[in-house]
Amino acid sequence: MFALACWLMAIGAWQTTPTASSQSPTAIYEVYAIRYAVLPDFSVAGLVAGADGQRKIDIAMMVWLIRGGGRNVLVDTGFYRPQFFKSWKVRDFVRPDDAVAHAGPRSQDITDVILSHAHWDHADGADLFPKAQIWIQKDEYRYYTSDAWQPGGNHGGIDPDDVQMLVGFNTAGRLHLVDGDQEILPGIRVYTGGRHTYASQYVSVPTRSGTIVLASDNMYLYENLEKHTPIAQTFDTASNLKAQDRMKEIAGDPKRVVPAHDPAVMTRFPQVTPGVVRLD
Ligand SMILES: [Zn+2]
Repeated sequence: MFALACWLMAIGAWQTTPTASSQSPTAIYEVYAIRYAVLPDFSVAGLVAGADGQRKIDIAMMVWLIRGGGRNVLVDTGFYRPQFFKSWKVRDFVRPDDAVAHAGPRSQDITDVILSHAHWDHADGADLFPKAQIWIQKDEYRYYTSDAWQPGGNHGGIDPDDVQMLVGFNTAGRLHLVDGDQEILPGIRVYTGGRHTYASQYVSVPTRSGTIVLASDNMYLYENLEKHTPIAQTFDTASNLKAQDRMKEIAGDPKRVVPAHDPAVMTRFPQVTPGVVRLD
């Protein structure tokens, strides 16, 4: 009986450890940026608030792969549905699951997908990864599956097909709704406050070279951080700037804060294979 009680206590203790920050194992991950497309001649003023309207840039469309501890975690999933190729000029497209396979894991090997936000170019490809557990902020999910489509709501950049997909993940039992700042996997944390969308999140990952922050669209370009300028599309510019400051603090070095669409990511870090760079 005593042995059983001890065993039950041990099980109880084990169950509490994955979310308790004090119990975080010293997990170390490899982190990769994977480019799956380019959107040419994108207006910088659409990315950096107040930028010269004449400036254009070929933006990189990327997803980020985190490998370690038996997991292949994808941060964002790109897009592939046909409607986006009608409304956007897309160059050098590789379907996101194929682009990820170039970095190593096959689509069925992706264990987790962290969606930074519900925009088409970040969330649309989530159903290309059939075995993945999907992580999104609870407030992001609730807003874009509901109030965003009501009078006074804002659903810019959200595709109805992707809303259906997210609801499908939920009814299939694959969706994890994250409530604010949390450690969601050993050592991997998400943070809100960037306010690119209703409740966009960014991610920190412990690596051999320190903590890497994957900002996603909460910081479009290096220029946002360097000039301390908010992103051009945000629900709250003050909150976005505060989040950028926090990203620097979490990473400990601005070089380890990785923006979502800056083509310089592909040249600032060593290339593993064309379209894939290692960030740690
Ligand atoms: Zn976005």
